[in-house]
Amino acid sequence: MTLTHGSSSEFSIETSTRPTSDVERQKILAKPGFGKHFTDHMVAIDWTLANGWHAPRIIPYGPLMLDPASLVLHYAQAIFEGLKAYQHADGSIWAFRPELNAARFAKSAERLGLPELPKELFLQSIQQLVGIDAKWLSQTPETSLYLRPFMIADESFLGVRGAEKVAFYVIASPAGPYFENGVSSIPIWVSAHHSRASKGGTGYAKCAGNYAGSLAPLQEARKNGCAQVLFLDAQHGQFLEELGGMNVFVVYKDGSLATPALSDSILAGVTRQSIIEIAKADGRRVDERQIGLEEVRTGLANGDITELFACGTAAVLFPISVLKSHSFSYSIPNAEAAKVSLSLRQKLTDIQYGREKNSGNWMRKLTSVHN
Ligand SMILES: *Cc1c(COP(=O)(O)O)cnc(C)c1O
Repeated sequence: MTLTHGSSSEFSIETSTRPTSDVERQKILAKPGFGKHFTDHMVAIDWTLANGWHAPRIIPYGPLMLDPASLVLHYAQAIFEGLKAYQHADGSIWAFRPELNAARFAKSAERLGLPELPKELFLQSIQQLVGIDAKWLSQTPETSLYLRPFMIADESFLGVRGAEKVAFYVIASPAGPYFENGVSSIPIWVSAHHSRASKGGTGYAKCAGNYAGSLAPLQEARKNGCAQVLFLDAQHGQFLEELGGMNVFVVYKDGSLATPALSDSILAGVTRQSIIEIAKADGRRVDERQIGLEEVRTGLANGDITELFACGTAAVLFPISVLKSHSFSYSIPNAEAAKVSLSLRQKLTDIQYGREKNSGNWMRKLTSVHN
């Protein structure tokens, strides 16, 4: 079967013959952590240059068969997404602005020389998977089902060119609260020698290779007691860009916010975009502009800047307690309080968990199944 853009498609379904037992699943859901456990099924869709996207299917979760010469293993032609499904009080399950993830996935694909997955197929994939693995969601506060769509070049070929055979998958992983004892503030390492992305590069694409390059700086951060890295711009090493997998905001004493303006070296986070819209609806001013590290230093010193926070789907939002490097340490006074940051976080999660009914069209219903 060949799917043309926008067509609705029939997924074939092969259910797992050895699904996780109720007892085992309950045990996992009591303490899921992040990215450690996976549901019973996954989505797979194939693409070839000759046939386009075809054979959409739900299959039991399990290992992939990859030829050792698969392009992805050598030239990192791989992209991914990250979004969450939430169970609301009535048992229904919803995704948060998944259209934005579908659109970003298409942009990432274009940059990596991969084929565009039609938006409808992206949305149907997560709906199908959540439908069949709905038991993996619960109404425990701050829990969700993390969805990881990804696309890899699985053509066996060692020549260097865009693949003519590609596969798309979605896997799902139950996620517990990022912070076990309530949201706390986090020390962040400012990388002096490494940048994450540069002008004309792949920074705006959610591709595997960007993450590979961020891991050595992350090791350095960990050695220095920091959980994450803040990267500065590659050209000057002076302006805030983002964390390895989260965007960053500055809060001023007048309640206004600033965040680095999007560019081809910054990933356009769905959380970033949503925080901007929530803050503006709140009557706050939000500037998207260049923010110098020096400006942050002086702002913290003279009290103009009162909070810094990072945000992204996995951790939602956390206040930053200190920016550290080998040569400086800028503390955020009273970072635990982070009133503005935490109120924005609350508003966002109220929408995601259905506590705020007036959420426009941000939530997309995936299933009304009760379990
Ligand atoms: C995924 C990601 C983010 C956050 O995006 P969200 O859509 O908010 O989850 C930020 N920066 C990078 C580099 C990312 O990969």
